[in-house]
Amino acid sequence: MPEREAPLRAVFVAGAGTDVGKTVVTAGLLRALRGLGVAAQAVKPLQTGVAPVDTSPGAPLAGDAAVYAAAVADLPGGALAPAAVLRTFALPASPFLAASEEGAVLDAAGLARGIREHWTRVSPPAELLLLEAAGGLLAPLNAREAMLDLMARVGAPVVLVVRNELGALNHALLSLAALQGRGLALAGLAVVEPPRELREASGARILEDNIRFLRARLAQDWPGAVLCPVPQAELSAPQGWERIARALLPLARALYEAVKAPDAGKAGDMEARDHAALWHPYASATRLPPLETAALSHENRIVLADGRELIDGMSSWWAAVHGYNHPRLTAALRAQAARMPHVMFGGLTHAPAVTLGERLLAAMPPGLVRLFFADSGSVAVEVALKMALQCQQGRGERRRTRFLAPRGGYHGDTLGAMSVCDPVTGMHSLFAGLVPQQLFMERPACRFDAPFAESALSDARRIFAGHGDEIAAVILEPVVQGAGGMWFYHPDYLRGLADLCRKAGALLIFDEIATGFGRTGRFFAAEWAGVTPDILCCGKALTGGVLTLAATACTAAVAEDICREGRVFMHGPTFMGNPLACAVAGASLDILEEGHWQEQVAALERQLAHGLAPCRQFEGVSDVRVLGAIGVVEMEAPVNGRALQRFFVERGVWIRPFGKLIYLMPPYITPPEDVAQLCSAVAEAVAAGVWRTGDTQGAA
Ligand code: PMP
Repeated sequence: MPEREAPLRAVFVAGAGTDVGKTVVTAGLLRALRGLGVAAQAVKPLQTGVAPVDTSPGAPLAGDAAVYAAAVADLPGGALAPAAVLRTFALPASPFLAASEEGAVLDAAGLARGIREHWTRVSPPAELLLLEAAGGLLAPLNAREAMLDLMARVGAPVVLVVRNELGALNHALLSLAALQGRGLALAGLAVVEPPRELREASGARILEDNIRFLRARLAQDWPGAVLCPVPQAELSAPQGWERIARALLPLARALYEAVKAPDAGKAGDMEARDHAALWHPYASATRLPPLETAALSHENRIVLADGRELIDGMSSWWAAVHGYNHPRLTAALRAQAARMPHVMFGGLTHAPAVTLGERLLAAMPPGLVRLFFADSGSVAVEVALKMALQCQQGRGERRRTRFLAPRGGYHGDTLGAMSVCDPVTGMHSLFAGLVPQQLFMERPACRFDAPFAESALSDARRIFAGHGDEIAAVILEPVVQGAGGMWFYHPDYLRGLADLCRKAGALLIFDEIATGFGRTGRFFAAEWAGVTPDILCCGKALTGGVLTLAATACTAAVAEDICREGRVFMHGPTFMGNPLACAVAGASLDILEEGHWQEQVAALERQLAHGLAPCRQFEGVSDVRVLGAIGVVEMEAPVNGRALQRFFVERGVWIRPFGKLIYLMPPYITPPEDVAQLCSAVAEAVAAGVWRTGDTQGAA
């Protein structure tokens, strides 16, 4: 890989407060690293309190950059400039205020982009950037984001600088907790000796104890992080800088090791390590699937280990509707983790589960009154099938043991769920003897966007006429068949089917695991038809894509019939009602309830329709359809998933086609320009014929 495309190697030097000695530590580290032969550069991404400076090469240095340069002035200089300043503001204040004064708006994403651009452009190339933060960790960048958000965006390890004084422990520990909370790695702690008068005021014993305590805490919670006490020194002479650099040498050595044996190398072979050990969804363990290594995520972006950012077009298989790392979801998770991550649900209950259950039932079609938590979509479907069977038994209908499902459906990969998936794409022949034999009817033929024809229900009628008294329930995905073909059909089909079920004494199960939580333009797709099923499953977007959780709800009649004569419902997963998952799901419902999902999904529908329309003209395209925040380009033949995945990653988008389908279901928060980029990547792939030659892959 050419050096310019090398993944960013950087360390953030951040303070537990303002004026703790960050600049001196950054400059000292620069000197120590250069002494070790590392081509390091000290960078101030954001400098406040200096007059606008000329940042062009060769221009005189100002602010902290002058300090960095002074620290290495006597060292034999390589061609790499010792210092760089990326943005400056005149007011000596928080970045937010200083930028506002000049009519500028800062944001973490833009600043992170600036750092990456600097890394790729700096010439000659640097081996390591020392990024000095402005202010303390929570110094605001704008009304919402702080310095810590920028650090999390960059994802580099952190050197925390704390001044050794009374109160140092509190400041250091608060800062460490904040770093931990954001998943940032700690490279080291620089504990800066205060000026003599303050040293005397705090007392030597306290200062020594601070260091002893922090060393012990680091060993316990941050193994691998290096603590360096940094002395006061007279910095007008090179000897002073040498003293600082020597104190920081253990930390510089650790950084040097990291540069010489970089993480990036490990990330690079992540695919190989994975290939040697793991199995992927619907994949071979011998003809190994191509893999990208995801390292970070934010909003609608997946950041790869080499720093490339992909625009997400998949919402991680319907789940991440609010995008990634939503601060409200993360906060809910963290708060619940601190209170009670999990307890068994047998004999115990808790507020996160009860509140979530109540809210879900209130959001579901009227008449669904009791809810069972499951740990995944497939398990929720197993639960639904078992509910239907136990309900029929309670009614004395013991002959009703079969399920009827339309072809083209998908309900999960466990045995019961698999038995009601499309018999061909669900590979029933592969598991013959293991998968129960169910009844199948034609896929609902009536398009969502065409007038409904009664004939769409004729196969259902035929099967009910022949097997009506054997059928325990009909199970199907309302309006949108997802992984079985991304097919959108007319809601009137559901009304007709509900009628047939009622007359035949069969229950109706809606699998809303993919369609739930707004994806089709209604909160639940059942609302398109105004039908309440007897049983409804949801999952996937339930937690906003953060944790696995699903739920199966039923009517009062179903619950009562199951529980006749003292019977109980026979299911009880270990992690049932997991408080972490319930708490995150609660936060996700908050966002949906307060938020703008209806407008967002309607806008995505318009943008997808507009962006994918050009695909209609290309050879090999059999259909283009859009409903809610789902856009589908169906090809005449199976597509080459491997080639397409590679093509899309090269274009900076994450799209994973399967079967004959290239489809998009982006997070609801996706900005219009990103939808346009997703659509144009699809159009380009189709137009260029990248999709040809079948090498298909699966979808969940
Ligand atoms: N039902 C439907 C409609 C689904 O789309 C899926 C997952 N794609 C499932 C069930 C199974 O869910 P899980 O993968 O969480 O087991």
